[in-house]
Amino acid sequence: SEWLIYATWWVGDNLSNLMQSVGASEKVFQLMDLMPSDQFISKGSKLQNLVGNVEFVNTSFYYPSRPTVPVLQNISLSVKPNEVVAIVGLSGSGKSTLVNLLLRLYEPTNGQILIDGCPLQELDVMWWRERIGFVGQEPKLFRTDISSNIRYGCTRDIRQEDVEWAAKKAYAHDFILSLPKGYQTLVDDDLLSGGQKQRIAIARAILRDPTILILDEATSALDAESEHNVRGVLRAVRKDKTTRRSVVIIAHRLSTIQAADSIVVMDNGRIVEAGSHSELLVKDGLYARLTRRQADAVA
Ligand code: ATP
Repeated sequence: SEWLIYATWWVGDNLSNLMQSVGASEKVFQLMDLMPSDQFISKGSKLQNLVGNVEFVNTSFYYPSRPTVPVLQNISLSVKPNEVVAIVGLSGSGKSTLVNLLLRLYEPTNGQILIDGCPLQELDVMWWRERIGFVGQEPKLFRTDISSNIRYGCTRDIRQEDVEWAAKKAYAHDFILSLPKGYQTLVDDDLLSGGQKQRIAIARAILRDPTILILDEATSALDAESEHNVRGVLRAVRKDKTTRRSVVIIAHRLSTIQAADSIVVMDNGRIVEAGSHSELLVKDGLYARLTRRQADAVA
C-alpha cells in the first residue's frame, strides 16, 4: 500500500537498524500497524536554513497499544547544534522511545517537540528524517563493495574522496585500506567484525551529512570495540565545529560518554537528572550509582 512504499523509501538503509533499535522485527510491524498511514506522505513544511535546535517541551507519551502505561512523562530536554547529548538509564526506562518520537515514528501524547522552534508535527516528515543519521546496535550491510555500502542511501552525487572523508571520520578508513581490495572489497558474511560493520554504518550516516546523528550503542559482545568507535566519533564531531551537527547517543556503557556535553539520566519514563559527568558524580544520584555499579562489574 502507499504508506508502505513511503515507509520503505525513508527507512532505506536503516530498516535493519531500525529493527535492531526496537529489538525485533515483529515489533517493527507492530509499530507500523500503529502509525497513521498519511504520516508517510510528504506534506508540511521544510525549514529553510535548518539550525538543528531540538527541544522536547513537557512531552509525555504512551504506546497506543498500551494506553495505561505511560512510557515517557513530562520530558523536557534540549539538544543544540554541535552538542553531544547522551541518554542513559536502565533497560525499559524509555531511551529508545525518546528516539522514536524524535524520528516521528510516533507523536507525543502530550507536550511537543520543537525543531528550531517549530512543532515537529508541522514539518514534512520525509524531509525531517533525511536530516537524521541513525546508527543502530547491529547495523546490516549489503552484499556489495565497501564503497557502495557507505554510499548507500545518499541521493547526492558522491565522489570517492567524499566516501573516504566519511570513512576517516568514522575511523573506518584504515581497516578498509587493509582489506584485499580496499574500498572495492566485497562485503561478505564473515569479512567484518561487528565493530567494523558499525564503523561502516557510521560512515554511511556521516556521508549523508545529517543535522542530528543518533547512535544506539551496542550492548552485545562487541562492546569494547563499539565503545572505541563511539568515542572516536565524539572526538571527530568535537573537532569539526563547522558542521553544526548534534549527536544523540543512547549509551549502555557509561564510560563511553563521559565527555558528552550533557548526560540525560532516565528512570521509568522520566528524566531524573541531567548534567555533565562530573556534575552528576557530585550529585551522587542514579548516574553515580550506575557508574559505580559498572565499574564494579568491570573490576
Ligand atoms: P533498552 O535499554 O532495553 O533498549 P529503553 O530504555 O530504550 O530500553 P524503551 O525501549 O523505550 O526503553 O521502552 C520503554 C517502555 O516502553 C518499556 O516498558 C517497553 O516495554 C515499552 N515499549 C517499547 N516499545 C513498545 C511498543 N512498540 N509498544 C508498547 N510498549 C512498548
